[in-house]
Amino acid sequence: MTSRVKILSQETTTPVSAPMPLAESLKWASPYEQRVDGRVEIFFAQSALLKCVEHTTSDLEHEVGGVLVGQVRVDPSDGRPYVVIQDILPALHTDASQTHVTFTQATLVQLHIELEDRFPDKRIVGWYHTHPNLGVFMSGYDKWLHENFFNDPTHVALVVDPGSERGGFFCWQANHRLDPVNYVGFHELGDVTDESVVEWNNLEPVIDV
Ligand SMILES: [Zn+2]
Repeated sequence: MTSRVKILSQETTTPVSAPMPLAESLKWASPYEQRVDGRVEIFFAQSALLKCVEHTTSDLEHEVGGVLVGQVRVDPSDGRPYVVIQDILPALHTDASQTHVTFTQATLVQLHIELEDRFPDKRIVGWYHTHPNLGVFMSGYDKWLHENFFNDPTHVALVVDPGSERGGFFCWQANHRLDPVNYVGFHELGDVTDESVVEWNNLEPVIDV
């Protein structure tokens, strides 16, 4: 599968060294943060989040999906990598006859070409897809896909239930463990407005006092 090899080759890009942009972000926590160990911190730029919400709410009956595009950076204070999601690429050619999103070979080729054309300095940092009215979890197939195509420790999976307005991230944990139930939130990076644009009601803002 040549396209898979090409997508994985994006990962050889050296991470940017920069402090986490905590001052420009609002943290959103899931009820399960404490159960998730050794996860990567995720910064989700509002501009990308708004595009993602637009796509994930575009079909409330069928699953849709795509990839998350951005950078892996390293915080110089502790040397730990973190992810900044700066854009999305909706997947075309997904197999609609399935009950779940299937990234076909044509999908992977399309995503790779678009990534090189539009975001030559960025990489795929994860993927997203919807579970209309099914809830936020990783199915057996989702786990298989993440393990086979998003195997880098910093790769994340966003699952959105557009019907109930819920969303959450699944991450590789310590010892390369992937928990299909316990999801986490993210840092909303305010690149569009000072107001929050997050409407997922399963996440709570974390206000530092
Ligand atoms: Zn799924």
